[in-house]
Amino acid sequence: MSNANKIIPLREQPRAEQWEPRRFKVFTARQLDKIEPLQRLDEDTRFAMRVVASVLPFRVNEYVIEELIDWDRVPDDPIYQLTFPQKDMLAPEHFERVAAALRGGDKAEIDATVAAVREALNPHPAGQMEHNIPEVDGEKIDGIQHKYNETVLFFPSQGQVCHSYCTFCFRWAQFIGDNDLKIATKEAGQLKKYVQAHPEITDILITGGDPLVMKTKNLRAHIEPLLELEQVRTIRIGSKALTFWPQRFVSDADADDLLALFREVRAAGKHLALMAHYNHWREMEPAIAREAIRRVRETGAQIRAQGPLLAHINDNAEDWARLWQTQVELGIVPYYMFVERDTGARHYFEVPLARAWEIYRDAMQQVSGLARTARGPSMSSHPGKVEIQGVTEIHGEKVFVLRLIQGRNADWVQRPFFAKYNPDATWLNHLEPALGEDRFFFEEELAALEN
Ligand SMILES: *Cc1c(COP(=O)(O)O)cnc(C)c1O
Repeated sequence: MSNANKIIPLREQPRAEQWEPRRFKVFTARQLDKIEPLQRLDEDTRFAMRVVASVLPFRVNEYVIEELIDWDRVPDDPIYQLTFPQKDMLAPEHFERVAAALRGGDKAEIDATVAAVREALNPHPAGQMEHNIPEVDGEKIDGIQHKYNETVLFFPSQGQVCHSYCTFCFRWAQFIGDNDLKIATKEAGQLKKYVQAHPEITDILITGGDPLVMKTKNLRAHIEPLLELEQVRTIRIGSKALTFWPQRFVSDADADDLLALFREVRAAGKHLALMAHYNHWREMEPAIAREAIRRVRETGAQIRAQGPLLAHINDNAEDWARLWQTQVELGIVPYYMFVERDTGARHYFEVPLARAWEIYRDAMQQVSGLARTARGPSMSSHPGKVEIQGVTEIHGEKVFVLRLIQGRNADWVQRPFFAKYNPDATWLNHLEPALGEDRFFFEEELAALEN
């Protein structure tokens, strides 16, 4: 690994006592003009940013602006692409419509145009809203999604924002927030009831938004009741705080309390997995980001890393090899490489499946087995997580070899299946069965499950 020697060994990190608290300061679409380094950009670029930020969520904090983005490399800097709206993130016709409305300045017209454009961007991919929403005592509960037998997803209503937003976010349509211990307690009660009614559940995945935007006392209200349940073996927290706000684990007023909560989970005999979202090795460069990782690992929690493959941010094998290698050296387990979902600014970020597999394979070849634990490229789609295992030829027909690594029906998992090779396909719905089949093996059962 040519880049490995650039990685700073952990022993060089300053001691925790040296970390000064930092005030969390965040900018949203209304404060674009207050972001100092943006003043260097020309007027058109800044207007384009306003246009895109009126459709897609925009929120970035000062730590990301000052410590993660290399402003000398803008617009190519990957962290800038990850957080700041770019003109081409909207299709030209959408961009022009919203730009015209903004120039016109009529509030009702702007709102209507923005709403129409949002609706055209497939705001709820893979049936996130309609499907997999369970009931407790005959009442539908919004904050729980149960798609795969053993794992339930929980979206605490107070965790529906993030410390910064990713421009490619597939949950871009769901951002609203609130912070009240009563709400947390009510939701936690519903979750516990649901889990108890489903003995097959062993894993709880607390996600968002980002659950670590919550104060520790609210997170504790969610987690502690689960520790009493024997069936719960693993608690996962999905978060990008290690990237966007490592202070959460180091210098925030309730950082130590958060780590104490992690220790409580371990003491109760459960596995705690922090499912970290990483897109680029640069996110792990700042000393405070490494201190945060060190502190989390010290509690006995395991950090696993996942993230999508994205044009303009990380669509090359060298960055993935370095990402995975850095993770291994910092004690993080590479977990999934995702394919960007079919929503929001997908046309800007998408990478053809064939190319995604080449990047995955090329990156895997550059690292040792310890860094080859990431599965993918994987599409989170209706039937489940579909992994592209490779491209090959069977009796003269070029095909994608695929498998489900998670399935709506557990019996589908790990069965290889084939699709006609298509160099332009970027999502499962662009693929057709190969080798003379007229449907994929799971299609009939999936249709039955959905009725
Ligand atoms: C990925 C995912 C899970 C967890 O799956 P693992 O393979 O166990 O990581 C659970 N629910 C949904 C909806 C998912 O997309």
